[in-house]
Amino acid sequence: MVDFGLSNQMMAISAIAAAAVLLLVWQGARLRQHGKAMARAQTEAFRLARADALTGLTNLQGFAESVSKLLGTGAPVSVLLIDIENFKQLNGTHGLRVGDELLRAFADRLRSLSPDKSRLARVGADEFGWVLEAGVRREVAEAAALKVMRALEEPLMAGGQSHSVRVNIGLARSPDHATGAESLIRAATSSLDRVRLAGESWGWFDPASEAAERAKFALARDLREAIRREHLEPWYQPVVNLASTAVVGMEILVRWRHPERGLLTPDVFIPLAEELGLAGAISQSLFRQLSRDSRHWPDHLTFAFNASPGQLRDLIALVQSPASIGADAIDPSRIELEVTESALVQDLDVAREVMSALQAQGTRVTLDNFGVGSSSIFHLRTLPFDKIKIDRRFVIDMDRDQRSAACVHAMVALGQSLGVEVAAEGIETAETASQLLAIGCRTAQGYYYSEPIPAPAVTELLRLQSRAA
Ligand code: C2E
Ligand code: CA
Repeated sequence: MVDFGLSNQMMAISAIAAAAVLLLVWQGARLRQHGKAMARAQTEAFRLARADALTGLTNLQGFAESVSKLLGTGAPVSVLLIDIENFKQLNGTHGLRVGDELLRAFADRLRSLSPDKSRLARVGADEFGWVLEAGVRREVAEAAALKVMRALEEPLMAGGQSHSVRVNIGLARSPDHATGAESLIRAATSSLDRVRLAGESWGWFDPASEAAERAKFALARDLREAIRREHLEPWYQPVVNLASTAVVGMEILVRWRHPERGLLTPDVFIPLAEELGLAGAISQSLFRQLSRDSRHWPDHLTFAFNASPGQLRDLIALVQSPASIGADAIDPSRIELEVTESALVQDLDVAREVMSALQAQGTRVTLDNFGVGSSSIFHLRTLPFDKIKIDRRFVIDMDRDQRSAACVHAMVALGQSLGVEVAAEGIETAETASQLLAIGCRTAQGYYYSEPIPAPAVTELLRLQSRAA
């Protein structure tokens, strides 16, 4: 019994011990399972943080990590950045849902090209990356770009419709173009931008164009600042009456007093200003400064502004309500606007509408650089110009070149028969001035009379002229 009792006790103890061991084992297993689940969850979170939800491809972060891993091998690494042409337009026309479907179809098409899917990525809204196996030659990377284009010869399906898709591809390669993952992807982005701008299909990173891009970026930054600080100044080129040589007006030609580069002429920055949509802000700044500069100049002087393409409408406000831009009023009949053909070809109806609004205020509109455009005579016939300004390229050598002189003669005659005033620019000699006067040109400007000069020099010139009169 005792024994029995004892063994019962022992059995009870060993049963408890066994249960405890079992519990520990079970808990251990649970903990291990929990640990595995945690690790799985972490891996999943890691994957999700590097996945693009729409296409299932790697995202930019994951792409940078793949590139970095391949760079770690020490062998050359080539990166392709692929962008879908006109994707925004497609999104706008067919809607976001079709746009998303197209992106998925595009990703699938790319997947069919790469054996290793982890090297493909969606790195931007409509931009994809492909990093090739480490060590492949340049030619293999170029062949991959061509493979992408060939794969897209067959249209993609989205929204129940087939879509022909074209791409731009920028390529960059380590160690030639960059050595780190981020800088290599940046180099491929820069080549993609260049290729896109040039309207090409694909191209390698080009350090020279990258440097030019950077310089352009710096110039754009300085230009915005310069406009804000009024470092862009109006310089004035006197316009004279050819018969009396009296100054009758000024053409306003902008100059930029750059803190490091000195005085810059418009050819350096006006095209950039037009590209950035800053031409209107420049005109406003010039107008404000003109309204201050001209306070003590005679009232009969006219002021001619050069208008950039796309700026015509803004100029109406400038002329009609100078107070809105913080300028003193200048009689609109003292303002002339010089427009080139490139400003007109954009939209003839807008040009007509703006011209009549300006002319109703007494502001005159001149067809600038007459003779060098592709359809000067067409524009002169179609739009109601008050004046034409014969381009300096015909005028500069008309005293030596028979053909230039004949062209100028014909242009003056054309203006006269249409009842439009004719002016000339680029007069550099007394001989040219007297030739122009003889054929009936009324006003002129050029280095023979004066180069463009800043406001204080104009004040001095006008003072000397009034003393001589
Ligand atoms: P443009 O309207 O044809 O201006 C005439 C250009 O010829 C000016 O160059 C002027 O300095 C130059 N010039 C004048 N007389 C002579 C001469 O006798 N001989 C020679 N060789 N050249 C002469 P600039 O000042 O460098 O201006 C270049 C162009 O920049 C202008 O051509 C105009 O299209 C544009 N521009 C100037 N100011 C502005 C502005 O405020 N806004 C806009 N949108 N464009 C401007
Ligand atoms: Ca002009």
